[in-house]
Amino acid sequence: MEPFKAMNIEEEPAKESSANTEKVKCLIIGSGPAGYTAAIYAARANLKPVMYTGIQMGGQLTTTTEVDNFPGYPDGVTGPVMMEDLKKQAERFGTDVRFGIATKADFSGKAHKVVIDDKHTLEVDVVILATGATAKYLGIEAETKYAGMGVSACATCDGFFYRGKDVAVVGGGDTACEEASYLAGLANKVYMIVRRDVLRASKAMQARVMNTPNIEILWKHQTVDLFGENGVEGVKLVKNKGTDEEEMTEVKIDGFFLAIGHTPNSEIFKEFIDTDDVGYVKTIPGTSKTNIPGVFACGDLQDSTYRQAVTAAGSGCMAAIDAERWLAEQG
Ligand code: FAD
Ligand code: NAP
Repeated sequence: MEPFKAMNIEEEPAKESSANTEKVKCLIIGSGPAGYTAAIYAARANLKPVMYTGIQMGGQLTTTTEVDNFPGYPDGVTGPVMMEDLKKQAERFGTDVRFGIATKADFSGKAHKVVIDDKHTLEVDVVILATGATAKYLGIEAETKYAGMGVSACATCDGFFYRGKDVAVVGGGDTACEEASYLAGLANKVYMIVRRDVLRASKAMQARVMNTPNIEILWKHQTVDLFGENGVEGVKLVKNKGTDEEEMTEVKIDGFFLAIGHTPNSEIFKEFIDTDDVGYVKTIPGTSKTNIPGVFACGDLQDSTYRQAVTAAGSGCMAAIDAERWLAEQG
């Protein structure tokens, strides 16, 4: 497949020339499991999809090693290999996969407009948004140092590797409680590192963690650093930070799980597309339809609950089918 060549704006002066605007029938933004699955279905339905991959070609799974829970890989698969497989499958049916970032969107008119890399304007009949959500990290250096070596932002994905071990979960919301409960079923001991003296989580989730014997909540603790030779062996914490009772502590752990929220990558669509308070795109339940006709959303971008590769792929399939039917209805 010919790679996308962005136009040189110095050669092409800043006029909205028709040469700088490309007509596209079906645009897919994002190249995670949702985007590639939408591409496979859209290409097979002859929608001639054009995909822009974004900066992370292959999406979140390219940052992990083993993926053991995606159906069809009986011996597991690494994230990068699985995403390369999905890319090949999408290209096999004619998806035009291009490297580029959607930098602006205008869904106010009849034809939807999306600008790529601040240069190249696309006029699109249907748009499938598959830009995912990004897990929040604390921003300490150790998170990068121990990435894939004890630091994770997904207990469902990586918890299996910590059977019988001691782990910590950072956060006090529903996600943290859910992750801690899940890990408690696998690990020997789960510490919850909570920065305040209350949990933000719902009462039901709070009750669940309080009633799980191998979960211990470390109230008013914040993470300072991680340590370990060939992977995480412990966490350095500060208790009662900024008070007279401030003290440093260390806890031995094998795994460090972040659960302090996710940021859906919806910023450039928000002016037109309805989102919830956190920024997740709202879809009509049971469909991939957004509030704008001809704009569909799939994957983690519109899913604050499951956030799994297989659910993202399933919703990508839905988006392509919804897009194909919508186009057919327009005649
Ligand atoms: P993503 O995979 O997040 O992909 C989003 C895509 O959108 C990327 O290609 C990005 O470049 C692109 N993009 C973003 N903004 C723009 C833009 N402006 N323009 C163009 N493109 C854009 N799930 C499992 O089921 N099993 C696992 O074992 C597992 N392990 C995981 C391990 C880790 C470390 C992480 C972080 C997640 C893991 N997950 C796992 C969760 C899984 O990765 C996600 O649920 C899934 O990738 C979501 O797919 P998606 O297609 O919605 O979005
Ligand atoms: P959240 O509700 O925003 O909670 C984030 C938690 O992380 C809070 O406890 C917050 O502490 C803590 N935190 C944030 N930044 C931190 C930092 N830098 N250091 C230490 N702690 C930090 O996020 P969420 O738990 O992912 O939930 C998001 C939404 O999804 C919520 O609406 C939630 O109800 C929903 N959800 C529902 C379910 C369910 O119903 N089963 C499951 C998961 C998520 P503070 O409290 O001190 O701010």
